[in-house]
Amino acid sequence: MKILVINAGSSSLKYQLIDMDTEKMMAKGICDRIGTEESFIKYQKAGESAKKTPRAIPNHVQAFRLVTQALVDPKKGVISDLSEISAVGHRVVQGGAIFDHSVLVTDEVIRQIQSLIPLAPLHNKPEADAILACREVFGKKMPQCVVFDTSFHATMPEKAYLYAIPYEYYEKYKIRRYGFHGTSHRYVSGKAIELLGKKAEDTRIVTCHLGNGSSISAVKGGKIIDTSMGFTPLEGVIMGSRCGAVDPAIIPFLMEKEGIPVSEMGSWMNKKCGFLGVSGVSSDMREITAAIGKGNDRARLAYDILCYQIKKYIGSYTAAMGGLDCIVFTAGIGENTPRLREDSLSDMEFFGIKVDKAKNNEKNPCLISADDSRVKVFVIPTNEELVIACDTDEIVSSL
Ligand code: ADP
Repeated sequence: MKILVINAGSSSLKYQLIDMDTEKMMAKGICDRIGTEESFIKYQKAGESAKKTPRAIPNHVQAFRLVTQALVDPKKGVISDLSEISAVGHRVVQGGAIFDHSVLVTDEVIRQIQSLIPLAPLHNKPEADAILACREVFGKKMPQCVVFDTSFHATMPEKAYLYAIPYEYYEKYKIRRYGFHGTSHRYVSGKAIELLGKKAEDTRIVTCHLGNGSSISAVKGGKIIDTSMGFTPLEGVIMGSRCGAVDPAIIPFLMEKEGIPVSEMGSWMNKKCGFLGVSGVSSDMREITAAIGKGNDRARLAYDILCYQIKKYIGSYTAAMGGLDCIVFTAGIGENTPRLREDSLSDMEFFGIKVDKAKNNEKNPCLISADDSRVKVFVIPTNEELVIACDTDEIVSSL
């Protein structure tokens, strides 16, 4: 069975075709800058380099058309006919309190995803549009499934997801912690449980997904009990250009002092803060570490803030879970920045955490804790697309 995995944004459509027999990517790419003069498609066949071609892509329907053409292209394609694709799996960011697991797309499911647009306007709208565009290109008979970023977090208890604001706003607007990157936390915690060789019920794991957006979760007995992102993906640790958790009083204070209107504040918190805002250098960890190498103190500060916050989350989640067996690092920063893994776990021997520096600096590290570290520390490359494909496979196979 071959499954097409889609991650749609307002001006982009990422795609990946996965062969479920091998669980390997056959081809992947992105249609980007959709709706602009600079639109293009990037296509990469497994084992080959990516090729970017400028193409007119006015909307997601055209993006799907280009993706299907690329996949069946006689020279560069990976399948001979679209009928080889058994199903399409979509990433949807916000499943709200409605979806606690992945589902088959129906008209009702599309309506429900649309009903959650007020909670995640930048995500759920283009994702619902992409499902409709996919239907137009593949026809209604093609099974489509949706996998939600929030659903792995559905097991959080009320005390972890409720904010201390009047309860009526939780009831009226569904304001609560939802958590994001759920497919990643689910994938890497599942792999960690396998590596630990224990029963899921007997494990207490902190998963650190550190990318452009970052979130840290407490996974007890295989289930999420708390996570750092909240009502939106802004809360939690410092990110590339997102502020993470700040004293809420800072926001109206700044709006008043700087004359920033409500309409711009969201974009300010998402795009002007984080590493970028603190360092003044970049939102990208590679550039932050390069600047640190050149003695830039504010880049160092941005880096130190992240390491310190990771340490604090590990401490608080260890307390919340009543102990700790394992820490996992994943995503762009977590997988590729050994120094940051070492620095965030420094001076934690009293917690039973000790990093083996040599293992941590290996090219493809996995277990990076010392032999005498009570807590195991793993680097596990995340694979959100595979989770989406596996869920889609399971749903479609049960039809
Ligand atoms: P997203 O959240 O957009 O999926 P990623 O998981 O790809 O992002 O993470 C992007 C972050 O990972 C950036 O800060 C980038 O600098 C960092 N990163 C990616 N590759 C490396 C690398 N080889 N070394 C250091 N940092 C890296």
